[in-house]
Amino acid sequence: MIIQLHKNCTAKERNALDYLLVQNKIKTVEINTQSNHYLVCIVTKEFDIRHIGNLACVKDVHRVTDSYKLVSRQWKVNPTKIDLGDGVVIQEGDFTLMAGPCSIESEAQVERIVKELVKNNIKIMRGGVYKPRSSPYSFRGLGIDGLKMLYAQCRAHSIKIITEVMQVTQIREMSDYVDIFQVGARNTQNFNLLDALGEIDKPVMIKRGISGTIDELLQSAEYIFSAGNEKLILCERGIRTFENAYRNTFDINAIPILKEKSHLPVIADPSHGIGIRKHVEKITLASLVAGADGAIVEIHYEPEKAYSDGQQNLSFEEFRSLVKKVNVLVELFLKMES
Ligand code: PEP
Ligand code: MN
Repeated sequence: MIIQLHKNCTAKERNALDYLLVQNKIKTVEINTQSNHYLVCIVTKEFDIRHIGNLACVKDVHRVTDSYKLVSRQWKVNPTKIDLGDGVVIQEGDFTLMAGPCSIESEAQVERIVKELVKNNIKIMRGGVYKPRSSPYSFRGLGIDGLKMLYAQCRAHSIKIITEVMQVTQIREMSDYVDIFQVGARNTQNFNLLDALGEIDKPVMIKRGISGTIDELLQSAEYIFSAGNEKLILCERGIRTFENAYRNTFDINAIPILKEKSHLPVIADPSHGIGIRKHVEKITLASLVAGADGAIVEIHYEPEKAYSDGQQNLSFEEFRSLVKKVNVLVELFLKMES
């Protein structure tokens, strides 16, 4: 059960609620997010929620049977919107394309890619400066200086930035230069990182773990929400299975399931999902049809020369073709539905 509390209820009003909960042996966890005040309640016995609904300090009360609570669709009818400012909003009914290189490599690289984004009316640029690499000898990113350089160029063109944060100590130094923090697949269950991201007032996109279930992804999102940050986005990026004909098994099924289970926006990452450049377009389009609220794709002007993930980066030509087709599908599927 989730109880939404009024922000400024009196001690007396609050006592009345606590008394009722204790009487019914209901355990509670109090959660204050940046915008709301909740009591997440673990109810083990039948309980008539109408007893609570009438109390003065209670704004609303909902029965939630899912094991995750705050990210569940069961209590929040309206889907969550992520407003990045300047008219850039990630929300149901739209399809937000985010694009950029796997890694930020140089000023010249960023300049060329930003230009391409502007041409294609893309408002959010991806690009890692802290890179989780399988080998310690691979390129591991330009770090905070790379992020500052990316920020300067993106701001000049009103482009928002999504980039991966790998550890708690990076959050503060990155914060001024980031619009969306990305939690990578290797960190989906780094609960200390998730707790710390719960304390900031910035959107977070959390990816599904390498071998993570849908339930585990939702529980990880619950960590961030319950630590105080409601500005969350879920990302399907493929999972490791016995199949090795492609990089990961992109789980298209996860998209409608996540949308059904949670009120959070769902973004597809077909680049890491299939990991093969020539098929990224098809999987992106399939994601749109499956109900994703957007996609994040890797692009590079010379994919074969990219410092990381070159095999899955779209060339500019391929990217333009993708944007065109996405726009056609948006007209066909999203505008028709609304
Ligand atoms: C990335 O986005 O470049 C990345 C490392 O993704 P993932 O965490 O999904 O592997
Ligand atoms: Mn990558």
